Amino acid sequence: MAELYYDDDADLSVIAGKKVAVIGYGSQGHAHALNLRDSGVDVTVGLREGSSSAAKAKDQGLQVASIADAVSGADVVVILAPDQVQRTLYAQDIEPNLKADATLLFAHGFNIRFGYIKPAAGHDIVMVAPKGPGHLVRREYESGRGVPVIVAVEQDATGTAWDTALSYAKAIGGLRAGGIKTTFTEETETDLFGEQAVLCGGTSQLVQYGFEVLTEAGYQPEVAYFEVLHELKLIVDLMWEGGIAKQRWSISDTAEYGDYVSGPRVISPEVKENMKGVLADIQSGAFADRFITDQDAGAPEFKELRAKGEQHPIETTGRELRKLFSWVETKDSDYTEGSAA
Ligand code: NDP
Ligand code: MG
Ligand code: MG
Repeated sequence: MAELYYDDDADLSVIAGKKVAVIGYGSQGHAHALNLRDSGVDVTVGLREGSSSAAKAKDQGLQVASIADAVSGADVVVILAPDQVQRTLYAQDIEPNLKADATLLFAHGFNIRFGYIKPAAGHDIVMVAPKGPGHLVRREYESGRGVPVIVAVEQDATGTAWDTALSYAKAIGGLRAGGIKTTFTEETETDLFGEQAVLCGGTSQLVQYGFEVLTEAGYQPEVAYFEVLHELKLIVDLMWEGGIAKQRWSISDTAEYGDYVSGPRVISPEVKENMKGVLADIQSGAFADRFITDQDAGAPEFKELRAKGEQHPIETTGRELRKLFSWVETKDSDYTEGSAA
């Protein structure tokens, strides 16, 4: 059984007694910085020259500085820029300004796990990774709740790395929901695998194939869109609430029987072997190398794949159909108002 942490397991005064620099003010950065500030932590947001986010952070009442200035005064440096820029950012702007005993905190283990960042021996290296997008991390905190986090320590130079990590996790609201103890290796490899094999890669491909099979057989794209994409959310919500079992309990017996007989036919054992291949490429660093090499070259492969994905006919159908939903809704409310007048 995994080790779990809640608010009572952490001491807020640990992080409240330190100077924290949050580097980046995007999805995670804004949420961490604002939640830390509201938990009484001394936080400075470090942004690059000419950053488009500086005004936003200042408007929200945060201290903003250059990355060099934010880092040089900090006991804890939180690296919340995109994974593919962290290596260069660390080498050029963070490392030269870093206090010898500063803690480095990440929200994803990518750069440490694959060796793109190799901090000196004096630094605690910790991870507090919310299991949700940044905007939810902020919204939940504001409503008195939190998004669950996973917490890890890669290097414990001071002997107090866990205290710092848990205190930070509490300050951003994560331990209100719960924290799970993990390692950088486990977090990185399972995160990449989950998004590639199931959540993003697997699901996107499954939906596209379903849409292609129906439309190629002559069914209307709008109807196909409803059956293979729109309804997916309802099914996933049920799984999220009560597992696959609750989803099967809720659907019709026809759907449930079809699930049992056709699921394994579509996702055959060969798919599991393919998943193992994906995992092997993650573990060996081959995926990371392909991603970073492409990013370093200006992301030609990434951009090409993105453009290709956007051209899939399901996107055109979806765009038109979703417009129709909002048109129908607007018309509905107009009708009500109109009849009252
Ligand atoms: P974002 O893409 O939202 O980060 C954008 C921020 O990074 C902006 O403030 C931007 O600066 C800054 N930035 C971008 N490039 C550079 C650069 N070259 N030098 C300096 N600053 C730069 O990142 P995320 O919040 O998505 O991800 C941050 C970390 O959190 C990653 O490690 C990610 O894996 C992890 N994570 C993300 C989750 C998510 O939901 N997004 C969930 C859990 C973990 P500017 O304002 O100047 O443009
Ligand atoms: Mg991820
Ligand atoms: Mg149906």
